[in-house]
Amino acid sequence: MLDSGRTTEDWIAADRRVLWHPFTQMQAWCDPALDPPVIVGGEGAMLTCSRGHSYFDGNSSIWTNIHGHCHPAIVAAICDQARRLDHASFLGGTNPAAIALAEHLVRLFPDGTLTRVFYSDDGSTAVEVALKMAIQARQLLGEPHRNRFLAFDQAYHGDTAGAASVGGIQTFFGRFEGMHFPVGRVASVDELPDQADDVTAVIVEPLIQGAAGMRLWPDGTLRRLRDWCDARGVYLILDEVMTGFGRTGKMFACEHEGVVPDFIALAKGLSGGTLPLAATLTTESIYSAFLGDVSEGKTFYYGHSYCGNPIACAAALANLKLFESEDTLASLQPKITHLRGLLAKLEAHPRVAATRQCGLIAGIDIVAADGTPHPAAALEGARVCRQAMRFGLLTRPVLDTIVLMPPLCATPTQLDAAVEALRLALD
Ligand SMILES: *Cc1c(COP(=O)(O)O)cnc(C)c1O
Repeated sequence: MLDSGRTTEDWIAADRRVLWHPFTQMQAWCDPALDPPVIVGGEGAMLTCSRGHSYFDGNSSIWTNIHGHCHPAIVAAICDQARRLDHASFLGGTNPAAIALAEHLVRLFPDGTLTRVFYSDDGSTAVEVALKMAIQARQLLGEPHRNRFLAFDQAYHGDTAGAASVGGIQTFFGRFEGMHFPVGRVASVDELPDQADDVTAVIVEPLIQGAAGMRLWPDGTLRRLRDWCDARGVYLILDEVMTGFGRTGKMFACEHEGVVPDFIALAKGLSGGTLPLAATLTTESIYSAFLGDVSEGKTFYYGHSYCGNPIACAAALANLKLFESEDTLASLQPKITHLRGLLAKLEAHPRVAATRQCGLIAGIDIVAADGTPHPAAALEGARVCRQAMRFGLLTRPVLDTIVLMPPLCATPTQLDAAVEALRLALD
């Protein structure tokens, strides 16, 4: 067990001595006026800190949590699996949890479409796998000239070098440009070129770009993109790392426009927000292109140590079964409507310029009380989120867009309280 005798001050001091946090200016992190919460517990949509405060998990612990924290069914699945087998290599071996999860995942898509599951660890690696599979498939299918990708401005697909190649946010990726896969970028489907003979695949976050500030695509974008790809023999890669597993109101965002991609990248909510796990699914025809005698060199030489980890797969399987036993998707619709009402009311606040919603995902653009935008350097979004913590809401902004993306288990009362906390923070 952790040394629970240590004080909160001691934990924070130790953190500042030895840690380096993601996406974080560590000089600001070490400002003694801005102590971070030390999270020590979670139950349902709530998190508790070492000082005994409880917070509504307003961004599902960075878009990962689905049925609530420490859900008994997922905890039981993890414990049960951990007692039996912790990990065994997926190279040269297999395990029941990974097999059963893959069977379940394949069943979530229309029959005979996405039939092959490749495991990795995170959203970035799920995207990386799709990109590399796409390139290699072209080589194997005699189209080596199809060696570049198309991606969208403001896209976010992860931080490993391959996934970052197709990202479109300068702050994150600009520094490493020139060390990336070849990529063309467009702002919208209207800008897609007519000729695409050298394009292997287009990658997109369907319905909504998360890290861009919860930016919604116009209706029909995904359908148009699929048609554009089909007319030119270009693969469609959907990054459903954020949108997957009910977040948009359907199991997957692509269902809203009846689109099936050639590759789909899944992570974040796959394990219900408990353990790192990712899956890239693709079609039987792409899979078949890689078949041959070992000497033909068609093998997909890619993998990670924890590929198919049984504990993570058991957690994911329990997560998916909860969608059935708790009828999660059906219970979601009234919550989505409820959130829509709350956002409409919040728009009357002088400091709210606009709100956007896709299922249980919301972005709230904040401005000064006189309606003018805050200078980016003021980091006002972060300041509002710090204030919201005082009223029991934990979330993070994307610049001056406050993100509300509650776990799917959140109750209407909890949603009321979260939006009220945000209102008080803005006041
Ligand atoms: C978070 C995210 C990723 C990256 O996932 P990691 O698990 O952080 O590597 C990729 N794509 C989208 C759309 C995401 O939201």
